[in-house]
Amino acid sequence: MMETRVIRAWGDEERDRSLMEEAGRLIREGELVAIPTETVYGLAGDALNPASAKKIYEAKGRPSDNPLIVHIAELDSLGSITREIPEKAEILIREFWPGPLTLIFKKSSAVPRETTGGLDTVAVRMPVNRIAAEFIRASGGYIAAPSANASGRPSCTTAEHVYEDMKGKIPLIIDGGEVGIGLESTIVDLSGDRPCLLRPGYISLNRLMEKIGEVDTDPSIEGVMDENAHPKAPGMKYKHYAPKGELYIVKGDPDRVRERINSLCLEGTKKGLRTAVLSSDETVNDYRADIVRSLGSRQDEESIARNLFKVLRDMDDEGADLIYTEEFNTADMGMAIMNRLIRAAGHRIIEC
Ligand code: AMP
Ligand code: MG
Repeated sequence: MMETRVIRAWGDEERDRSLMEEAGRLIREGELVAIPTETVYGLAGDALNPASAKKIYEAKGRPSDNPLIVHIAELDSLGSITREIPEKAEILIREFWPGPLTLIFKKSSAVPRETTGGLDTVAVRMPVNRIAAEFIRASGGYIAAPSANASGRPSCTTAEHVYEDMKGKIPLIIDGGEVGIGLESTIVDLSGDRPCLLRPGYISLNRLMEKIGEVDTDPSIEGVMDENAHPKAPGMKYKHYAPKGELYIVKGDPDRVRERINSLCLEGTKKGLRTAVLSSDETVNDYRADIVRSLGSRQDEESIARNLFKVLRDMDDEGADLIYTEEFNTADMGMAIMNRLIRAAGHRIIEC
């Protein structure tokens, strides 16, 4: 088994530079390196090397028709991997890059189909995280980097989570501390006639529409999906983020939600199951279950987004069998938070 080193990027220039040189050399040799970004940790390989894409799919246990996002560090890099840059893309780039927004373009022949899961389009993002940007520059400028979790598990928001999933599979994890946002990037498809939101994220639909007008929403975002469906973002059809226990979203009037969750937990306990509740700071004292965890205050939706994946992972460590969560339809990030929760719950929703 390969030894996996975890090295902290200390912010000490000299040390960081030699770490980046080493990481860049690994990438050019076709190896994989896990890196922090502002959204979640990424599992990076050379985006222009078909063998690296294969390694990424293997390490994640990810189906190879699920395309990878190409990460760049300079705007100048965009031209050589795309066939055209529509005007609306230019507007979004000016407004949101570098940052947590991924755009889909028609791809150039420089990008191998192994990287795009066989598609004729390419997803591109320019992260704002300093370590990510320096790493991309040191690695030749084009990095394929899906989330660094094993396929199906919650995405990684700390280097420890990456180590749990990638130990023995990759040579190096760069530790940049806990990420800032905690949910994956917003994805917008600009390769067709009309802009289409494929995955909600930190940058909300409203903010996109303020800049470029109407944006369609891919049905997979909220609709019921099955393995035979063909959403535009292929990754959306796969089961994702799921804890080992059975997760249910309970929605409706807050008082009834509280009563319902408590009675469901009581039933679970009678059956000898270990029960858990995901609440907010405002309601954390209202529940009776083996484990009650707050995702954060409803006044601070960014904290809820940042804690979500960590709390889902903790449910596995805690051995929760039955998990009930409140709904988190917050103003800006609610669509993104609920999109991840609905998929983690395998669409199990209880209305009351
Ligand atoms: P992850 O790398 O885990 O953040 O997932 C990346 C997701 O981006 C994939 O699962 C796809 O759903 C989406 N994606 C990447 N490239 C494309 C593309 N060319 N067209 C549509 N969706 C894409
Ligand atoms: Mg992912």
